[in-house]
Amino acid sequence: MQNFLDKQWAQALGDLEQTISAIGFDMWIKTMRPINIEDDNLVFVCGNEMAMNVVLRSFSKQILEAIKTHFKLDKFKVILESEKDEYIEKHHLVEKSEKNKEELPKAVTNEEELTNPLNPKYTFDNFVVGTTNSLIYAATRSVAENPGKRFNPLFIYGGVGLGKTHLLHAIGNYIWDTKRGKVKIVYSTSENFTNEFLEILKNNKEKSTIEFRKKYRHADVLLIDDVQFFADKKKVQEEFFNTFNDLFAANKQIIIASDRPPKEIFGIEERLSSRFSQGLVQDIQKPDFETRVMIIKKKIELNGYKFDENIIPTLAERFEKFNIREIEGALNKLYVIANLSGKYEVDAEILNEAFAHSHEFEAKVGRVATQEKIIEAICIKFNLKRDELFGKRRTKEIAEARQYCIYLMWRKLDIPLTSIAKLFNRDHATAIHARDKVMELIKTDPTIKKLVEELEDLVVH
Ligand code: ADP
Ligand code: MG
Repeated sequence: MQNFLDKQWAQALGDLEQTISAIGFDMWIKTMRPINIEDDNLVFVCGNEMAMNVVLRSFSKQILEAIKTHFKLDKFKVILESEKDEYIEKHHLVEKSEKNKEELPKAVTNEEELTNPLNPKYTFDNFVVGTTNSLIYAATRSVAENPGKRFNPLFIYGGVGLGKTHLLHAIGNYIWDTKRGKVKIVYSTSENFTNEFLEILKNNKEKSTIEFRKKYRHADVLLIDDVQFFADKKKVQEEFFNTFNDLFAANKQIIIASDRPPKEIFGIEERLSSRFSQGLVQDIQKPDFETRVMIIKKKIELNGYKFDENIIPTLAERFEKFNIREIEGALNKLYVIANLSGKYEVDAEILNEAFAHSHEFEAKVGRVATQEKIIEAICIKFNLKRDELFGKRRTKEIAEARQYCIYLMWRKLDIPLTSIAKLFNRDHATAIHARDKVMELIKTDPTIKKLVEELEDLVVH
């Protein structure tokens, strides 16, 4: 039976590939597999709830057509991967014995129900590969295809918005799909790991320690994002070191992302950073012109936007300094501008208009901060008046607000620190000190990191 179903489905897939967009097909249809015919219904298993909803909402018509042709059926139903075993048992399907023969990772056989913790949006299929990221793409792909066998650990580093998180999820999604949901994948950030662990130390409950360890040390694939925030806390690093060693010894795949290479991560122990380097360390760079063109095209397609093809090179040039997240933001905003003007398509005219008010345009599309916006954001966040921020008074609060203001101006505006110091009537050394202090705090204190991220967001809106 299963052979028959698979054979017919392979043919139906051929039809569906023609009738459904490439993205829709790869992301959703491929997660389905027929396992039974029940009361004239073709019964599918679907990878996750999200996929099931999308399939039922958006692709029912095309699926019905395809199964009519290839199965002579005109109904179907979908069950979730998590319901599959129960279904198979209830309907006495043979798959059970087939399944036992499959090689499954041991750690997870009888554990809690597995779910895919990853964002289905981030896949290899919608990751644009150009010269600046082809090496990292090849490395992540190879790890996804051979988890635990090559490049362990894989350490990815590069600036913000360049696709590190996207790739971590893509690896996880790929493994999840190919192992048909029978692996335990843990995705976490160093910040989460730290918080969870500190919580346990605080409560000092044996049960939660066991659960914590079970969660991380029973992983088949461990993805740790933003590892630069492993705070300067010995106990947390010790715990992670042990987790790492356990998994590594058991040939479990570990993938780590960071904004800088292992050696430059502030405050982590030497033995941890050398562990990070023992597999493959690979960087990811800002997209070059060609890659930006491809990314722009892909994002337009994925979002269903309308852009005049002819302006794409101009956009790619204009976005020279942008990371990919900023490119996405700029495209969204241009499309909004076009819609507001009643045009529904971004063309040369819309673009010229936007460029003509360059400053405004940049502020709109480029997530570009201005001095005014930084001052405003600081005043709002710290509940200060402008005069207080620039005045003589030196309460602890005001001094702190000034430090953040100096840091943000240094980071976001193209002006030298000496000019920033002048603005505050301070000397250069004071400004340097303020900037360095905030940089240090960002590295060591997750709440400060959050605060600065919020501020950074505020100043570009
Ligand atoms: P990082 O973790 O490096 O800060 P993200 O992975 O969050 O960056 O990427 C930021 C955004 O840019 C995401 O929406 C992601 O999907 C997109 N992105 C990054 N690189 C690519 C790429 N090569 N192709 C398509 N989208 C990309
Ligand atoms: Mg990220």
